[in-house]
Amino acid sequence: MMIRIAGRCRDAVRRIRARSLRPAVEGLEDRKLLATINGGHWYYPIRITYSFMPDGTSIGGVSSNLFQTMNAVAPTATWQDQFRKAAAIWQQVAGFNIVEVTDNGDPVGGTGNQQNDSRFGDIRIGGTAMHPAYLGYSLLPPPVNGGPDAGDIVINTAQTWKINNDYDLLSVAIHEIGHSLGMGHSAITAANMYTYYAWMKQSLHSDDVAGIQYLYGGVPADPTANSTLSTAIDLTSLTDAQGRMSYGAGYVTQASNFEWYKITVPSSTTGTMKVTMQSTSLSSLSPWLTVVNSAYATVGTVSAPDVFGATVTYTVTGVTPGQTYYIQGKAAQSGAGSNGAFGLLVNFGTSTQAPIAPYNTTVAQQPDQGVNGWMPEMTPREMRRAVRRFQNLNGPDQANDDHGHETIVINLGKGRGKAYADALMATPRRPSRFPRFPRPARFRHA
Ligand SMILES: [Zn+2]
Repeated sequence: MMIRIAGRCRDAVRRIRARSLRPAVEGLEDRKLLATINGGHWYYPIRITYSFMPDGTSIGGVSSNLFQTMNAVAPTATWQDQFRKAAAIWQQVAGFNIVEVTDNGDPVGGTGNQQNDSRFGDIRIGGTAMHPAYLGYSLLPPPVNGGPDAGDIVINTAQTWKINNDYDLLSVAIHEIGHSLGMGHSAITAANMYTYYAWMKQSLHSDDVAGIQYLYGGVPADPTANSTLSTAIDLTSLTDAQGRMSYGAGYVTQASNFEWYKITVPSSTTGTMKVTMQSTSLSSLSPWLTVVNSAYATVGTVSAPDVFGATVTYTVTGVTPGQTYYIQGKAAQSGAGSNGAFGLLVNFGTSTQAPIAPYNTTVAQQPDQGVNGWMPEMTPREMRRAVRRFQNLNGPDQANDDHGHETIVINLGKGRGKAYADALMATPRRPSRFPRFPRPARFRHA
């Protein structure tokens, strides 16, 4: 069923590519949406990854200082959770899985895979000090940026950040991850993807949802009809000679969606049954695992509420060959983290058991298509002009197109070092060097 999800998403990708032959704005007006897309999207939505750049990671020659900055605001796990939750908020409404991975601190940009580079996430999150007009920017996803820089997020570490107050980190994380997934700006002030930080927006507006579903489709339908104990899928035949069972194709669609399985204890058992539900490395699902015996009595439950991508294990002792146990997998809470891919592992012995391996989403580096290819928020001529005008400035540089969208161009180094990005503006104040600036309908921060 993970493959079915991928197939569905690839259909969406094909649809988008077909639409790219005409202007994006026209296509969206057909659907009466005010959301826009930035011309990029991930080729393998089944597993989009993100990572936190360690401090010192070079962003165009400037060292990232996200950890130093945010650790002064909140404990590391607390501020990182704002980004994790933001990723899960998008996953909750659309047809992709998003997953945290580690980051080795190699410079942003350079040579590497467009998707699934083993050194860091598809979307890397870092920070540098920049002009106060900005809260942050995101490098656009493939194919606009064709290399490992695609989708990377840089937060303005010169701003005053807060959690659950202005400038609210979760609100901005949702916005920037939205760009990294392919969302452009919305004309609706209440949308999270509005150009300016107008007020805290810790959830998605229907316009944001419509935009992300245009890119990736909605949450897929439940691929398996096993929502009750009586329709449990029997996993017994997947048990190997060492008493290990591995099943990688689970998917929870929403908080009310239960996934039931059953398994019979093999003769090889040493007397324990270790049951593991894994969304780590597979999705941002917060897992909830329950083991039920053949008399339909609950043996035990373990869950990881508000942990976006986790592995929970429950061990039953004193199991004997021939007994049947039922396993229920579901989400630990409603809202963010209530959907996504998972796998099940059952071990009746003491042999080591590898976690469920993720789907291979590797896409090799491609040339950037930001200037010469399709780029809805700026024409190639505008982009070239912007590159010339701003290429020597430090930090992100902005130019507007005629639709009021701004796209920024940043330098990641000499030579082939430019990348194309979307920024979230702090205020509508007009820095003198910015050419044209749209007036927002409403804003709070002067
Ligand atoms: Zn933006």
